[in-house]
Amino acid sequence: MVAEVAAVLPQAQYRGRFAPSPTGPLHFGSLVAAVGSYLDARSQDGEWLVRIEDVDTPRCQPGMGDAILRSLDAFGFAWDREVIWQSRRSEAYAAALDELRRRGLAYACGCSRKEIADSATRPAVDGGLAYPGTCRDGLAPGRSARAWRLRVPDQRIGCVDRIQGEVAQHLAEDVGDFVLLRADGLFAYQLAVTVDDQFQQISDIVRGADLLDSTPRQLWLQHCLGAPTPRYAHLPVVANAAGEKLSKQTRAAAIDPAQAAPQLVAALRFLGQPVPDELVCASLAEVWAWALAHWDFARIPQQRAAII
Ligand code: GLU
Repeated sequence: MVAEVAAVLPQAQYRGRFAPSPTGPLHFGSLVAAVGSYLDARSQDGEWLVRIEDVDTPRCQPGMGDAILRSLDAFGFAWDREVIWQSRRSEAYAAALDELRRRGLAYACGCSRKEIADSATRPAVDGGLAYPGTCRDGLAPGRSARAWRLRVPDQRIGCVDRIQGEVAQHLAEDVGDFVLLRADGLFAYQLAVTVDDQFQQISDIVRGADLLDSTPRQLWLQHCLGAPTPRYAHLPVVANAAGEKLSKQTRAAAIDPAQAAPQLVAALRFLGQPVPDELVCASLAEVWAWALAHWDFARIPQQRAAII
């Protein structure tokens, strides 16, 4: 049995978002995520927002957030409302952390990476180690806080994803109490994304399946913060011939605005949309017109990854 931790509120208005991290230029995998969330929103007369997720400042490249916005624009995406930048939202994250602390849901952790490696016994879903809960009942005398963690429940937490079906984790076993404020003083992605999705009143999250493993943590945080749970749809991620997800680490090539129309066709086909061959040499406006008129969510392959 999977606990549905938060009520999925009926959202009158569809509001989706694309939330790139400016750690490198947009590549074909990011284009697929942008296209999937954009067309899902537009096909339901919804709004589509863009958020630059530059909370992890040391990993971000200077000027990359603006470069991403320029390439979205060159590819013909039109977003609603003002773009928000996570690097300017620290106060909101601090307020959320304060509330969690006050309610005893977040606690200070004094463990170093090495201490966790020496004491942890379980692998975590993200390839690291599940935090063993050493500081759960308070810091040992003489120790100081390095990070802040959220207590997780001893139960399975999940939801039903529109593409991937049931997604659930036993947070205590698969992740452990997770970090909200890192030892380097930066807010963690899980906190920032949850606070921002609530702040922007996002009803629908359509993103790559590489983020499936983060979803139960975000569901739990939503529950703790009293935020509604959006609907989720995790798209297959694009992998290269070696089976690796396209990313900065695997040196994925940047998408090229000069090739916007054929790249958009390729992204649509990756998402299972039967783009007619005559559109392969069409203009960008013609490809978008076809995509907006024919978008069929049910055709998206129900896989976590696919090779291009
Ligand atoms: N910023 C994340 C990324 O680029 C996406 C977060 C999300 O869509 O929830 O991988």
